[in-house]
Amino acid sequence: MSFVLGLKCRECGREYPTEPTHVCEFCFGPLEVRYDYDGIKRVMTRQVIESRPATMWRYRELIPIDTEPTVGLHNGFTPLVRAKNLGKELGLTNLYLKNDSVCHPTLSFKDRVVAAAVNKAREFGYDTIACASTGNLANSVAAHAAAAGMKSYVFIPHDLEQSKILGTSIYNTKIVGIKGSYDDVNRFCSEVATVFKWAFVNINIRPFYGDGSKTFGYEIAEQLGWRAPDCVVTPVAGSSLITKIHKAFKEFEQLGLIGPVKTKVFAAQATGCSPVTTAIKNGWDDFKPVKPNTIAKSIAIGNPADGYYGIRVARGSGGWGEDVTDPEIVEGIKLLARTEGIFTETAGGVTVGVAQKLAAQGRIGRDELTVLSITGQGLKTTEAVVNHIPAPVVIEPKLSVFEELHKTL
Ligand SMILES: *Cc1c(COP(=O)(O)O)cnc(C)c1O
Ligand SMILES: [Zn+2]
Repeated sequence: MSFVLGLKCRECGREYPTEPTHVCEFCFGPLEVRYDYDGIKRVMTRQVIESRPATMWRYRELIPIDTEPTVGLHNGFTPLVRAKNLGKELGLTNLYLKNDSVCHPTLSFKDRVVAAAVNKAREFGYDTIACASTGNLANSVAAHAAAAGMKSYVFIPHDLEQSKILGTSIYNTKIVGIKGSYDDVNRFCSEVATVFKWAFVNINIRPFYGDGSKTFGYEIAEQLGWRAPDCVVTPVAGSSLITKIHKAFKEFEQLGLIGPVKTKVFAAQATGCSPVTTAIKNGWDDFKPVKPNTIAKSIAIGNPADGYYGIRVARGSGGWGEDVTDPEIVEGIKLLARTEGIFTETAGGVTVGVAQKLAAQGRIGRDELTVLSITGQGLKTTEAVVNHIPAPVVIEPKLSVFEELHKTL
């Protein structure tokens, strides 16, 4: 049973049938999925949701596929961690981490969007999945294509981290490194997509892909005991996640699953690629594209597809945007590891570093219920920190040697 009514242009409101398309033919605005919320409200109660398995599919009616999912069945429902130790360091008494660094199966929040996109692509009859990726999407597309028995093509900037490349190639996908930045890869893929009839998850399947992100927000609200937080801090690349978290809270409000939503949404970027936060800080309506230069490669998008909406949701919700330098990103990764025992990738370091700044600025209040979006796994970006942590001391297996060493540890 599906509650999808079709697609709709976010700008001019023109309606389209449910098809693998993502741009309005009339005004070039992005297309979004339309749902029958009255129908959903009748079947989707808190009790119904709670009775279902702990995966992203417990919000089934709000994910735009018509038939039962056949791949990515175990994705989502990652831990929401109370972060008392980190909170103490940041001066926040009510701090939580939504920890998608352990999302099944490829350890980033991209497993949510890919699960939605691949199932939809199958419904559309595609046998080949493709993407332009900064790394995590590549991992997830390749893994889900393998599990689904579909072919896959993955396009990445040629200079990504070793683990992001290996963690894609292992699934026997066809991986192509492009000489250029993600924005070059993305532009190139739009061209490829006009010739090759593939399901590009973040191009022609983008409206369906994007709605996979919403499950990150649904889970936060449910795990907080059916309420939206006061503040959420989210790393921003193309601006899909930040806009969809907010949409998720608003949908839950509309469905009567939670009370009025007053969540302030904060955008986090690396200073070396901060088109969205720079626009927010300067009061611009839209961003100016930039050329990325940062260790936070997973969020290094200089020309973000939904950047305009990311700016609007941050400012419109009463939130803000901040960015952190590469050394501050490394400090953020180390701070989270030291205080909470969670090893996140560079994007997570951005979120923690930005949260620290926002708390110091008083933009996040001391006692506000705040959730940090930890979206990826540290073991995938070891290059970023390997030279900033001490190497282990090596000794002979002799007690006397260790006793001497122990005095210096
Ligand atoms: C892709 C990604 C994001 C943000 O993606 P959006 O394009 O803004 O939705 C955040 N963190 C990680 C680790 C990612 O891979
Ligand atoms: Zn339009």
